[in-house]
Amino acid sequence: MSVLEKTNSSALIALEDQYGAHNYHPLPVVLSRGEGVYVWDVEGKRYYDFLSAYSAVNQGHCHPKIVNALVTQAQTLTLTSRAFYNDKLGSYEKFITKMFGFEKILPMNTGAEAVETALKICRKWAYEKKGLDEHQAQIIVCDNNFHGRTTTIISFSNDENARRNFGPYTEGFIRIPYDDINALENVLVNNKNIAGFLVEPIQGEAGVYVPNDSYLKQVKALCEKHDVLFIADEVQTGIARTGSLLAVCGNCSCENHCEQQETYSKPDILILGKAVSGGVYPVSAVLADDEIMHVIKPGQHGSTFGGNPLAAAVATAALEVVYDENLAQNAKRLGKIFREKLNQYIQTSSIVKLVRGKGLLNAIVINDTEDSSTAWDICMKMAENGLLAKPTHGNIIRFAPPLVMNEEQLNECVEIIIKSVKEFER
Ligand code: PMP
Repeated sequence: MSVLEKTNSSALIALEDQYGAHNYHPLPVVLSRGEGVYVWDVEGKRYYDFLSAYSAVNQGHCHPKIVNALVTQAQTLTLTSRAFYNDKLGSYEKFITKMFGFEKILPMNTGAEAVETALKICRKWAYEKKGLDEHQAQIIVCDNNFHGRTTTIISFSNDENARRNFGPYTEGFIRIPYDDINALENVLVNNKNIAGFLVEPIQGEAGVYVPNDSYLKQVKALCEKHDVLFIADEVQTGIARTGSLLAVCGNCSCENHCEQQETYSKPDILILGKAVSGGVYPVSAVLADDEIMHVIKPGQHGSTFGGNPLAAAVATAALEVVYDENLAQNAKRLGKIFREKLNQYIQTSSIVKLVRGKGLLNAIVINDTEDSSTAWDICMKMAENGLLAKPTHGNIIRFAPPLVMNEEQLNECVEIIIKSVKEFER
C-alpha cells in the first residue's frame, strides 16, 4: 500500500489541513513537478515560480547537474556523521572557502542553524579573543530582521507574530534601526560589551529593503574600529540572487570572489544557506577566517547531518552552476529590466506604489493597509494567470524567480504581473 495519496488539489490541501500543523498559510496551489523556472500543479497547469522557495532554487528546479550529483552520491554514501572523515567534505570545504574568500567553513544544514552557529562563534570569540567578561557579550541586530525561527533568533525579532508566547527569551541582543549608521555608531561608542553586529545586507523577509549604497562599507569600517565582528546573513541574498555573488560584493556582478573591488565589504562571519544546494537538500554554511573559527574546538559545536558527503556533493555541484551559467550577471541584467518595466507601469498605477530591489530580489508595495487582502488577491490572480508569488507583510509582494530565467521568459512574466495587477486598479 502506498501512503502517498495522489488525488486532486483540493483533496491534497484537505490532507495537509487535517494532519499537518497550521504553521503556514500557503496559496492554494499543489505542486508536483518542477523544471528550471517552471513548476506544475497536480492538475498539470504550468506556472512561473517567482518565489524560488524563498531564494533557495536560484539554479532552477531540478537542475540536472545538481540532481545528478545527488543521485550519484546517494547511491554511494550519504551520512557518516563527523565521528569519521568522509571523502567529499574536504574538497567541498576547499572549494567553498576559495569561492567566497575565507579560510574556514563550518557546515550546517538550515539557515537558522547557521545563524545560531555564527552567534555562538561570535560570543566565544568575544570572550576568548576580545576579552569580554563572561556572560556580558551583546550582539547588535536590526529592527525588522529575519534570521530564522529558533528560540534565540526569535528572541531578538520585533515581529510579534514570530515571538508572542514563545518566551522566556534569550538575552544579549540590542536592536537598532536598519540602514542607520549613526544608530550603530551610537551603540558602539557607548557600550564596551559589543561582540558583533548581525545584519542582512538586504532585508528580504521584511519586504526587500535595500540599504544605502555606502551602508555596508560604513558598517565594516565601524565594526573594525570598535573590534566588533561584522556578521552578514546572506542566507537569502547570497549565491548570485542580488546580481553579485554576494550582496556584500556591492556593485560587482562577477561570479568570483574579488576582494579588490571597491564596493566589497568583507564580513568577519558570512552565513549562507538555501541556494548553496540549489534547493535540492538542506545545506548551510558559516564562513570565517582562522583567527575567528579557531575558537571552536572539538566537541563544542556540531550537527549529525552537517558536512555529510551527500550535502558536500550537492553543494559543490550547485555552486559550480553559479559559475557555469553566469547567474550573477544574468540576475543583474534581468533585474534591471524587471524594475525598469514595472517602474514604467506604476507611473500610471493607483494600486502599486513602489518597486524596489536588487538583481532578481525585488518587491512591489501595494497601495493598501498591511491587513488588507489586496496583495493576497493579486497573488491569487497571478496564480490564475500562471505565475506564483507570495505576499510578505500583508501589502508587499516579493518577486524572486530562479536565476536561470531568460529575457523572453522575464518579459512574459512582467506581462502576467501587469495584467494581474491591472484588474485591481481603482
Ligand atoms: N536568514 C535569512 C536572511 C532568511 O531569509 C532565512 C529564511 N527566510 C533564514 C535565515 C532562515 O533559514 P531557514 O528557513 O533555512 O532556517
